[in-house]
Amino acid sequence: MHKKLFIPGPVDVLPEVLEKMATPQIGHRTKEASDLQRGISEKLQKVFYTENQILLSTSSGSGLMEGAIRSFTGKRAAVFSVGAFGDRWYKMATTNNVPADLFKSELGEPTTVQMVDEALATGKYDVITVTHNETSTGVMNPTAEIGALLKEKYPDVLYLVDTVSSMGGVKIEADAWGMDVVITSTQKALGLPAGMAICSVSERAIEAGRQVPNRGLYLDLVSLYDTVKKKDHQYPSTPSLSHMFALDYQLDRILEEGLENRYARHKEMADYVRAWARKNFDLLVQDEKYLSQTLTTIKNTKEISVGDLNKELANRGFMISNGYGGLKNLTFRISHMADYTMDDVKDLLSTIDDILGL
Ligand SMILES: *Cc1c(COP(=O)(O)O)cnc(C)c1O
Repeated sequence: MHKKLFIPGPVDVLPEVLEKMATPQIGHRTKEASDLQRGISEKLQKVFYTENQILLSTSSGSGLMEGAIRSFTGKRAAVFSVGAFGDRWYKMATTNNVPADLFKSELGEPTTVQMVDEALATGKYDVITVTHNETSTGVMNPTAEIGALLKEKYPDVLYLVDTVSSMGGVKIEADAWGMDVVITSTQKALGLPAGMAICSVSERAIEAGRQVPNRGLYLDLVSLYDTVKKKDHQYPSTPSLSHMFALDYQLDRILEEGLENRYARHKEMADYVRAWARKNFDLLVQDEKYLSQTLTTIKNTKEISVGDLNKELANRGFMISNGYGGLKNLTFRISHMADYTMDDVKDLLSTIDDILGL
């Protein structure tokens, strides 16, 4: 039996979107391929609220995170981490010999404007990385406020943002918020199969990247950008055309739903899950302002066995997530993103109520 995935990615994909993955292949150097990729970029610019160039990468989101920190760090990167995915960005830096320092928040707490200000006041950094929506703790960071700080006091610092688990589920205005590189993957709030990553990249990031030696090859975002510009949206190596067919179709669906409607649907699902969690357990993130809109991390105050719950949920066609890393069993996570509806969420929660006798 298929289990409906309430894990924070991969999420369930609509059958009609899955079908687009089976579109017959086309030559990746044809005008048809250029048209497909140009169309996708134009639609993605709307979703990202940006006029910057969109780049696609046949990798998961981690690929572009690694590529970005390596391609754009000239001096030193300040990596702000509020959990597992921020830590991963730091590891990507150190394993690529990219000079970087890690600035960690307590689990469940955000990266604050003050933390960024203090780090940048040292003058040591030309790049910062921030996780917009930390999928382990369910923290959504104040990325607009951090962007405003950069504009005001540190206009030369590049702003790299991981929006892997939130883009498409909550409004992220890349240009208005001063973001230079905004990265996401297909398998989360965009509602597609895993296997492709997407980013927007500013021209000033590209110009800074040209001064960086040893950017690697496959994930060199400067060469990716140059090829996309020169060859009308074609890529240096063969991209996953199957994903592109599905992405093109799904973006039409997303824009047809309307971005504001889409965000409102996510907010409604988030509010419902939060209320349920507060009634029966507790939330890891206490400050409403920093709560993720695409997933909820629930404090396991009843000390239930998350493994047993998931086993019983599996029998009934559902799957949720245990806590991540050090938060395993102390928390569990329910995602509410992509094409899920209030009915889906209510279905899941009433099933959990039934299993746990809540
Ligand atoms: C899932 C996730 C990643 C990793 O993305 P992949 O597509 O699995 O490589 C990075 N950051 C966040 C916040 C995520 O949720």
